[in-house]
Amino acid sequence: MDLLPLFHNLRDRRCVMVGGGEIALRKLRQLIAVGAAIEVIAPEINSSIQKLAREFCLTLVNREFEDADLNGAVLVVAATNDTAVNRRISALAQTKNIPVNVVDSPELCSVIFPSIVDRSPVQIAISSAGTAPVLARMLRTRLESSIPSGYGKLAALAGKYRDLVKRKIADGLSRKAFWEDVFEGDIAELVYAEKLDEAESRIQQKLANPASKKLGEVYLVGGGPGDPDLLTFRALRLMQKADIVLYDRLVSKEVLALVRRDAELVYVGKTAGDHPVTQDNINEKLAEYALQGKRVLRLKGGDPFIFGRGGEEISHLAEYGIPFQVVPGITAASGCASYAGIPLTHRDYAQSVRFITGHLKDNSLDLNWQDLVSPNQTLVFYMGLSGLESICRELIRRGKAAGTPAALIEKGTTANQRVFIGDLKTLPDKVREANAKAPTLIIVGDVVKLHEKLSWFKQ
Ligand code: SAH
Repeated sequence: MDLLPLFHNLRDRRCVMVGGGEIALRKLRQLIAVGAAIEVIAPEINSSIQKLAREFCLTLVNREFEDADLNGAVLVVAATNDTAVNRRISALAQTKNIPVNVVDSPELCSVIFPSIVDRSPVQIAISSAGTAPVLARMLRTRLESSIPSGYGKLAALAGKYRDLVKRKIADGLSRKAFWEDVFEGDIAELVYAEKLDEAESRIQQKLANPASKKLGEVYLVGGGPGDPDLLTFRALRLMQKADIVLYDRLVSKEVLALVRRDAELVYVGKTAGDHPVTQDNINEKLAEYALQGKRVLRLKGGDPFIFGRGGEEISHLAEYGIPFQVVPGITAASGCASYAGIPLTHRDYAQSVRFITGHLKDNSLDLNWQDLVSPNQTLVFYMGLSGLESICRELIRRGKAAGTPAALIEKGTTANQRVFIGDLKTLPDKVREANAKAPTLIIVGDVVKLHEKLSWFKQ
């Protein structure tokens, strides 16, 4: 190991920044964030730094660097574009034993600025010792996406109870188990969901009765339209945490593959074996598993609250007092529209968009057609494949022009996506001839014209 990472308390300590340009600005922001007393020395100081100086406690000194500037400094950063000056500052600082950083010249530095993942009070510093800053930044991005933004709050909460827990649980191993349970379990989830009061009362409860059987919880999670890259950070985290996963037909196998490997998978889709699982049955199962103390993931395609019956499932849980949280997903309309290059709204074509169920009830569609044919809006039909002909026919009959552009997107966002473009008159035949299969989404309106220009996703 060449360098020792240390976390430095710079609050109100004198830090000297030599340089007044863009590079200096970046480092200044970091120094400001930790409350340093900063002096900026440069013959020219750019307007962004001047603006910072008006907001924060920066002293600006408009002249060349002088040796005496280092007096009393605990850190100096050289960010000038003059190599000779940078060298001089580095040498001088090192003879005075003042930590020095010269931007983009690792050989002149005695300290370097790491890439930081900030979940204060938790911080992660990453460095490649100046060899590959881009790599350090990439690593940082990966960590950013896998560490919940509420981590800092969780740590702060733990800090608040640290002494009390120490007093109540004398045995070190039991204490470790206690904290692991807090950081991995429902208490952490409550913090991430911003329910800090509840999280605190759960900690107190757990302390009062450490052996108490914990109640399970349910995560109602939107798995998006298919492409696993479209999952949210939170969805992915909960997928990796769940003990049991109830999923249905629309969840893509690529998404399902990201669920924790030893989680139990339960298929509750419409064509589940000989015994299709009814909605009541699913509602019951969710409650049953949670009451057994399990972390139950209800994984749904798209967004759980858009044609997903998510509301019914959690209202059942609410009746039992089972804790749950809902994680939105990218709904098919957003996913398919983006991947087909069809903006759902557009200043020239559509000022509003409607999500409509095209599901046939008793072979007919019971919709408010008068509303649907009014101009300047985009219509998006979910579950409309078998009703496509009726939808197009009825829109024309109620006054929509037969030439209104219309698209059908099959298996949107996946490697098997197909997009069929036509109009209300031609689309049904095109789709029938191509033998499109569910899931498909129908988009009707002038925005469909943009597909030709904006289509980007390779099929
Ligand atoms: N909750 C889901 C919708 C469930 S209803 C969501 O928010 O997306 C099921 C309908 O969603 C399907 O009939 C189809 O119209 C649409 N759908 C879901 N995934 C799709 C996909 N990858 N491509 C096209 N349509 C899709």
